[in-house]
Amino acid sequence: MTATLDDSSFDYIVIGSGASGSVIANRLSANPDLKVLVLEAGNADKDPNIQHMGNFVKLWGSEVDWKLITENQPGLGDRSIVIDQGKVLGGSTSINALMYVRGNRRNFDAWAASGATGWSYDDVLPYFKKLEDYEGGASATRGVGGPLKIRDCPEQIMRSQEFINAAAQVGYDANWDYNGDRQENGAGLLQFHIDESDQRVSSATAFLHPVLDRVNLILELGAEVTRILTEGTRVIGVEYVQDGQVKQARSTQEVILSAGALQSPKLLMLSGIGDAEHLQSLNIPVVADLSGVGQNLQDHVQLPIVFRTKDDRPKPDLLTGNTLFVNTRKDQFDRAPDLQLNFTPAVPVQLPIDFGVPACIFLAILVQPESIGEVKLRSSNYQDQPIINPNYLQSDADVQTLVAAIQLAREIANTSAFAELNLGEIVPGASGDAEIEGFIRSQASTIWHPVGTCKMGQDDRAVVDPQLRVWGLQGLRVADASVMPIVPSGNTVAACFMIGEKAADLILAN
Ligand SMILES: Cc1cc2nc3c(=O)[nH]c(=O)nc-3n(C[C@H](O)[C@H](O)[C@H](O)COP(=O)(O)OP(=O)(O)OC[C@H]3O[C@@H](n4cnc5c(N)ncnc54)[C@H](O)[C@@H]3O)c2cc1C
Repeated sequence: MTATLDDSSFDYIVIGSGASGSVIANRLSANPDLKVLVLEAGNADKDPNIQHMGNFVKLWGSEVDWKLITENQPGLGDRSIVIDQGKVLGGSTSINALMYVRGNRRNFDAWAASGATGWSYDDVLPYFKKLEDYEGGASATRGVGGPLKIRDCPEQIMRSQEFINAAAQVGYDANWDYNGDRQENGAGLLQFHIDESDQRVSSATAFLHPVLDRVNLILELGAEVTRILTEGTRVIGVEYVQDGQVKQARSTQEVILSAGALQSPKLLMLSGIGDAEHLQSLNIPVVADLSGVGQNLQDHVQLPIVFRTKDDRPKPDLLTGNTLFVNTRKDQFDRAPDLQLNFTPAVPVQLPIDFGVPACIFLAILVQPESIGEVKLRSSNYQDQPIINPNYLQSDADVQTLVAAIQLAREIANTSAFAELNLGEIVPGASGDAEIEGFIRSQASTIWHPVGTCKMGQDDRAVVDPQLRVWGLQGLRVADASVMPIVPSGNTVAACFMIGEKAADLILAN
C-alpha cells in the first residue's frame, strides 16, 4: 500500500501521547496560530482499570500494552523479560505504578557535564516546579498550580512509620521529601501522580483531555507511525497506518518524536536514521548515519526482599508507600544514589503472590545501573518487535549494589523500631555469597524504566543536540525517555514530564 502527502499539513506533528508528548502537544497548541497533530498508536484511555490507582496490574499483557520482550539475558540466568509499555492515550503514564520521583540533582548535573548543556539541576528545576501541583505546598523546590497533581502516599494502610523510624535508627533522616532540596539519605512517604479522589492523573488526563476542544489541536488515535518522511536532510512529515489505511501528514515546521525509549529508536531506524551498517544489512536506505541510535539503553532492575509480619493488615491498593534513597558505593561519596529501597507493609491486593503468611516487602531498585544495552531492528517491517538487549546485571557492580540492598533491608528489619513487623526473613533467606547472587540473578526483573537510546549530547554517539534536534537533520526532534544520557536515580516519569516541558520551551523559542 502506498500513500502520497495530501493536504493534511500541520506546523508540528507529535508522535506519541505519553509523558513527554502530551506536555509538548498541550504547550504548543496553547498558541492558536500553531496547528498541532498528535498521532498515537494506541486507543482511548477508557478502560476503568486505568483510572484506578492499583488496577494497572490487570492491564499487563492487555491490548493497552506493547508487550515488548527482551532477548535472553545471561545476567538473569538466561531469562527473557517482558518490558510492558503503554499503548494507549497517555502512553505508559496510563498503565504505570504512579510513583513520582524527580531524581537526584547530581543526575542532571551529570547530564550537563556529559554534553547536555542547559540540563543541569538548576536548569531543569523550574520545569519540575511548573509541572506540578504538590499537595505539600510551594517552596524553593516544590511547585503548586501546575497540571500534574502530586500527593503523598494517600493510603493509610500503606504508610509505615515503622520503616521510617527504623531507617532513622540506622542513621538516616526521617519523614523526608525526596523531591525536595536533598533526595538522598532520608526515609519518607512515596509521592504519586493521583488526584484528590485517588484516581490516576496521566499525561492524558492532565495535559490532553482538558484541551481537546482547541480547534488547532488534532488527535488521531489508533494511528501507528511507520516512517518519518524526508527530502534530503529535511523532515517533511510522517507516514502512519490507521484502520488498515496508509496515510501521510505533512509538517511545515517540525516532527517531534515522543514514542518512548524502545519505540523512538525503532522508528528512527525504520526511517533510515541510525547506524549505516545496521540499516544496510536490512536494505533500509540511509538518510543519516548516526551510530548512537538504539545504543546506551539503561533500565532499572527491581528485587523483592520479603519478611514475615505479625499482623494481617488489610490488603492495600497501592504497590508501595515508603522509600529511602542511598548511595551504597562507600568509596564514591559524591555520586547520586544507586539504590532506591521501597517498603510495603502488606502484600498489595492486585499482586498475584501469596506467601502463605502475612508479609511485608522491601523492593530494592538498582537506580544507577552500570550495565548498558541496546535496541536494534529485527527487520524492516514495522510490525516486528525490535531486538531489545538491556544486558541486565552484566556488570558485577550492579550485583554488588543489590547485595548491599539485601544487607540494608536486613539491618532495617533488625532494629527495635521494626520489631513488630519482622517475624523472620522469607526471601532471600540465603546467607552464602553464591546463594545470594543466585537469588538475585533468578529473581531480578525490570521496573519498566528504559531510557537513553537516542541520547542527548555532543559526542559522536549522541543522537540529539541539547536542543533535542536530531544531529544532521532539519525539522526533527526527539523528546522522551530516550534522550536521557544517564538514567536518573528514581522512577523515570517525572523526568519525562520535565523533558516535555523543556522541549516545548525550546521549540517555541525558535
Ligand atoms: C508498568 C509500568 C509501571 C511504571 N511505573 C512507574 C512509576 O511508578 N513511576 C515512574 O516514574 N515511572 C513508571 N514507569 C515508567 C514511566 O511511565 C515512563 O518512564 C514514561 O511514561 C516514559 O515516557 P515517554 O514519553 O518516554 O513514553 P511513553 O509514556 O511510553 O509514551 C510513548 C507513547 O508513544 C506511543 N507510540 C509508540 N510508538 C508509536 C508509533 N510508532 N506511532 C504512534 N505512537 C507511538 C505509545 O503508544 C505511547 O503512548 C512505569 C512504566 C510501566 C510500563
